[in-house]
Amino acid sequence: MLSLLNLLKDGRFHSGQDLGAALGISRSAIWKQLQHLEAELGLSIHKVRGRGYQLAAPLMLLDPLKIAGAPPFWPITLLDSIDSTNAEALRAVSRGQSAPFLVLAERQLSGRGRRGRKWVSPFAENLYYSLVLRIDGGMRQLEGLSLVVGLAVMKALRKLGVAGAGLKWPNDVLVGNKKIAGILLELVGDPADVCHVVLGIGINVNMQSADEVDQQWTSMRLESGQMCDRNILVAELSEQLQSFICRQQAEGFKVLRAEWEANHLWQGRTVSLIAGVNQIDGVVLGIDNQGAIRLMVEGEEKVFSGGELSLRLRDES
Ligand code: ATP
Repeated sequence: MLSLLNLLKDGRFHSGQDLGAALGISRSAIWKQLQHLEAELGLSIHKVRGRGYQLAAPLMLLDPLKIAGAPPFWPITLLDSIDSTNAEALRAVSRGQSAPFLVLAERQLSGRGRRGRKWVSPFAENLYYSLVLRIDGGMRQLEGLSLVVGLAVMKALRKLGVAGAGLKWPNDVLVGNKKIAGILLELVGDPADVCHVVLGIGINVNMQSADEVDQQWTSMRLESGQMCDRNILVAELSEQLQSFICRQQAEGFKVLRAEWEANHLWQGRTVSLIAGVNQIDGVVLGIDNQGAIRLMVEGEEKVFSGGELSLRLRDES
């Protein structure tokens, strides 16, 4: 099915005869595959008598040759469709695949956010990226790691034209109040000894509409007005991740704390910190050397950390 898509991706008309000849299958088999592409991948295809078939919009697919040829040369698994790249990465760890390695997909059927929330992941529009690392230096190596991933994503976005990208604790990347990327870290093994951590990253790249996303969002294309080649984004993101993670692993999160705070969009804002049914209101002072959030609560500085916490703005300050 993807070989047919590769022929159609230029967005031009192709006759059924030419497509059949190129793939060595009949015109009726081409017709079936086209229907499958529409139904399965949600793509819209124009069918015009006498001219042939044309994708409603050109597509840029992920290209393993382009990606694998760029540093840091992590082994890559590239999938057309998967439940979730993080889930596949965790399965690969349990099969014994040695880290570091990268799992990418053109779409996710059950893309996930924190606390079981859904990450909307249409075909070939965005980036669904999971990097697996082996951590054997104990808890210290994990300190602030999810914030470090946010920094790397933000840097990659800025380099590729999204000047307004900034951070929201603990690991959202926003442009203004709109979410452009989500990060989900998942861990297997013993964090105090040897473990594997999956750094799951979803970035909205060329997506222009998504009725299912139930909060404000944006994409690189909506911000820059241009279609972005996801292969270039993979290369840039991998380079940024490698460089930030190297610094964090060698020197600890504390050396990145000031840079993270300087890019925190909600620094000084009045927020609610949500922990399940509990809510604490305060003003964001910053973070500490481990990446925990520091809030001024009723005149006193308090520090909070943990994977189950979310920040919400309380005002328009
Ligand atoms: P937090 O709890 O950190 O404040 P959050 O509510 O944004 O973050 P996440 O787990 O980071 O939650 O992401 C999942 C949420 O993101 C979903 O509940 C949905 O509102 C939103 N979402 C889902 N898909 C996308 C997407 N492609 N782009 C932007 N936002 C999305």
